[in-house]
Amino acid sequence: MNPHNAKDDPFRSLRHNMVSSQIRSRGISDPRLLQVMQCIPRHLFLPHRLQKIAYDDHALPLDKGQTISQPYIVALMTEALCLKGDEKVLEIGTGSGYQTAILASLADSVFTIECISSLSQIAEKSLQALGYSNIHFAIGDGTLGLPDKAPYNCIIATGSLPQLPETLLAQLDENGILVAPVGGRSLQKLLSVKRIGTKVERHDLGGCQFVPLIGKNGWSR
Ligand code: SAH
Repeated sequence: MNPHNAKDDPFRSLRHNMVSSQIRSRGISDPRLLQVMQCIPRHLFLPHRLQKIAYDDHALPLDKGQTISQPYIVALMTEALCLKGDEKVLEIGTGSGYQTAILASLADSVFTIECISSLSQIAEKSLQALGYSNIHFAIGDGTLGLPDKAPYNCIIATGSLPQLPETLLAQLDENGILVAPVGGRSLQKLLSVKRIGTKVERHDLGGCQFVPLIGKNGWSR
């Protein structure tokens, strides 16, 4: 049994409330995703002083001016990837590692790239402590993707992009899905893009607000 879902875990009921009142109630229905969000200890991805509000319905600050996304947004983006269990996933913007944990629980392997090495190291420690062994960490400009390990079945950008970079679309496998917030520096649209041969099928998942991805195909500092 996951020790973080034991009956005496003080965060267990907060996590259950989060899933029922923020996630399921807003239309997320993938049973594997709901189960995983019920179990993963989001509070362990946050600094100690913020742990008691880890399951609240909003984003929270991380070191270096970054943020851990709102639980519902994490769920919405993950559901859009349609993970079945055998996928190779690229995550751009490791941040706290919370989204990484969800991806690694639902897919075969995750490559996660972060441009701030101290954040990557903290996330790696948290994820190792929880026993994940299918995550590969990279430090660098994720707006270029991670071409050495391409193609990916799924790519998820957890920071905003001014447009969809061709470089990332080119690293998607046939029928691969990319989910990313695209638009202005402070307000974006959450897009899900499926690659079908040389064409792409685009879905708009709604408005959102993400921190910017800083890099060659992202924003300048
Ligand atoms: N998924 C994260 C959210 C992190 S916020 C979580 O659940 O905690 C976005 C992250 O993208 C930040 O950590 C930021 O440092 C990182 N980032 C910004 N530009 C980047 C780039 N070009 N390549 C990789 N990571 C980047």
